[in-house]
Amino acid sequence: MKFEHNYIDGQWCPAALGATRTITDPGNGEVLAVVAESSREDSVRAIAAARAAFYRDGAWRRMSGPNRAAKLFAVADRIEARAQELAVLDSRNSGKPLREAEGDVADAAACFRYYAGLIGKPQGGVYEVGDGFGPMHAYTVHEPVGVCALITPWNYPLLMATGKLAPALAAGNCVVLKPSELTPLSAVELFRIFEEVGLPAGTANLVLGAGPDAGHELAASSDVDMVTFTGSTKTGQSIATAAVGNLKKVGLELGGKSPNIVFADADLEGAVEWAMIGVFFNQGEVCSAGSRLLIEESIKERFVERLAERARALRIGHGLDNPDLGAIVSQAQLDKVLGFIERAQAQGAQLVCGGQRVVDGDCAKGFFVQPTIFDRCTPDMEIVREEVFGPVVAVQTFRTEDEAIALANDTRYGLAGGVFTTDGARALRVMKEIRAGITWINCYNPTFNEAPWGGYKMSGYGRDLGVNGLHEYQQVKQVNINLRPGPVGWY
Ligand code: NAD
Repeated sequence: MKFEHNYIDGQWCPAALGATRTITDPGNGEVLAVVAESSREDSVRAIAAARAAFYRDGAWRRMSGPNRAAKLFAVADRIEARAQELAVLDSRNSGKPLREAEGDVADAAACFRYYAGLIGKPQGGVYEVGDGFGPMHAYTVHEPVGVCALITPWNYPLLMATGKLAPALAAGNCVVLKPSELTPLSAVELFRIFEEVGLPAGTANLVLGAGPDAGHELAASSDVDMVTFTGSTKTGQSIATAAVGNLKKVGLELGGKSPNIVFADADLEGAVEWAMIGVFFNQGEVCSAGSRLLIEESIKERFVERLAERARALRIGHGLDNPDLGAIVSQAQLDKVLGFIERAQAQGAQLVCGGQRVVDGDCAKGFFVQPTIFDRCTPDMEIVREEVFGPVVAVQTFRTEDEAIALANDTRYGLAGGVFTTDGARALRVMKEIRAGITWINCYNPTFNEAPWGGYKMSGYGRDLGVNGLHEYQQVKQVNINLRPGPVGWY
């Protein structure tokens, strides 16, 4: 049995109160590890370590850009060297198909490389300024924010942690990561890698455990300069509220209920395939999932028939067997998904396929749900309004472009959206109207380390990834230089 501890100030240590949590494989119930279950005390210690490392020692923030980059390149190399082991760990811990976990690990290594490279590129600017007080010269520098708390969810365990750690560390911050209590195992290995490459003590700290205790302290503490969070909108609201005390910087990547619009002129087979990637990838446990399919009325019957045919053929099983759909992450999430399915039927949505827990053979040991399609959904239904975070899609129809846009934007969320059409001008017209931060034309769900990721409306604020992702973890300082020192002659 593996016992995994917190990593604070360069030391592995049990939770302050000695509590532990058992981590299981959601695909078969096997115990994977016992890990520290932290409380407020552990977060306080980790914050203090990060604070001392940043403000007192300053070893990481003062390290030259190229030297910091070298450490992060070394992290990427070691992730790649252990790629298969990390992929197996994320697949077993979260339930996802192995090939998807392998993609996550490759992306995680690439993310460290991207930010290691970015930190050496020119930043800041030189400004032409007024001469009311005599000739002046102004320039800006980008500096780390300070102590950053990073709180991540369970659907992409390694990737979500990496998308915050890589830019935060590249910028010179000291960090405390709290991964989801359900899927902490790949983060533990990542911190072993940090230890191997020799990040200065206190630069990167790991606190394992649940949100309301360990997580809340990270959001509320006045000793934290920034909190960045990926998770549900409800938790995001509580984090923003807790963070207000010291006006720390806040970044929120939250939930979604994203529209995927298919016009009658779209390539049908292609659109069906992408719609499946949009809603069944990672068992639908994807924030950007295209979980509202808006289909032009004239092709709806044909489209749904083909989608259902393909969905019924998907293989469901344990992640390591490389199925099309793996296990749902936990019993609680399984119950949540099944509850949405039950209520959708009660509210009059028409179940086209799926809708059941899978209990055949070995699936009985884990938490599996059939890919599920609901037709004849109306805007008021819960299945159209609320995020399920499972392999469930709600189909609505439209007749005109304006109607499609209105339906697409009829949501409190604004994370993502897609449009399928062979009319290029229409694709661009529709895209311009969609109120969401991440959009796709004739595809759905590909994501890139190089491009900014984040939402409008109640899907949050701030951006992960891309150049914007680095700027989130930086302050911009203005430096004004008097070019004619001496009396200014004002008084
Ligand atoms: P969650 O909000 O339950 O938990 C996310 C993290 O917050 C976990 O680490 C949890 O321990 C912690 N947490 C919970 N309560 C807390 C509190 N009061 N204070 C501080 N921390 C707390 O979300 P989840 O169930 O782990 O993940 C699913 C959600 O994440 C979905 O809504 C999904 O859309 C969202 N998500 C969004 C993105 C994005 O980029 N926008 C990406 C992935 C997931």
